[in-house]
Amino acid sequence: MAMTGVVKDELSRVPAVKPCCRKTEVSTLLRFAGGLNLTAGRIVIEAELDTGAVARRLRASIAEVFGHTSELLVLAPGGLRRGNRYVVRVSKGGDSLARQAGLIDSFGRPVRGLPRQVVSGGICDCEAAWRGAFLAHGSLTEPGRSMSLELTCPGPEAALAMVGAARRLRIAAKARDVRGVDRVVVRDGDAISAIILSADAVRQNFWPMLLWAFLIALFTAVGIGTLYVGLIVTFPLIGHATWHAYRDLVAEA
Ligand SMILES: [Zn+2]
Repeated sequence: MAMTGVVKDELSRVPAVKPCCRKTEVSTLLRFAGGLNLTAGRIVIEAELDTGAVARRLRASIAEVFGHTSELLVLAPGGLRRGNRYVVRVSKGGDSLARQAGLIDSFGRPVRGLPRQVVSGGICDCEAAWRGAFLAHGSLTEPGRSMSLELTCPGPEAALAMVGAARRLRIAAKARDVRGVDRVVVRDGDAISAIILSADAVRQNFWPMLLWAFLIALFTAVGIGTLYVGLIVTFPLIGHATWHAYRDLVAEA
């Protein structure tokens, strides 16, 4: 799962600026990675994550968007787990966070699909929901095999809600029951990057990207114009600079 870890790390740096999106991301993250535990009549929320960067992002959002403090527990590897696990726990104010994040309805019953504000949110929130779900319980196949993204869902209703959110983003996703576990699978590489990574970053950086695309076309034309000799210089140059531009784009904040 090395690649999944790298992508989650990068994704944790993508800034979510709008309050609705941050709310949606936290709600979905808690729904997918979380559990509601009833302790002495009070709700304690726990989310177990495989990446430290995701845990930090979640804690910051819980504090800044919902106004609750949380604890962080680090579980050392053991049994089948190779890496650390990170548990974000909200015990003080767990009831009110469960309500704010839409994890329970107005009667105090756990919500089975996705929180209502996520389902009825805007397009930006469909993206935020996918980001939250992927950060919580998503994985990518390693390079070499055909590209696919899988989400492990907390139930069939949540899986169908994610398929619906993907459809609103015009991305094909399929819900599948694999040995009693509900999963959502996205197969096409472009769709995968659109759904988890590029959307926000691309929109915020549209014009610089367009300029860059123009420069690449120009340099390539010059390279071809000089009977391909120029390409010996321009190809490595463009490749290197594109990589750096991508790093800047995704890591900016
Ligand atoms: Zn939004």
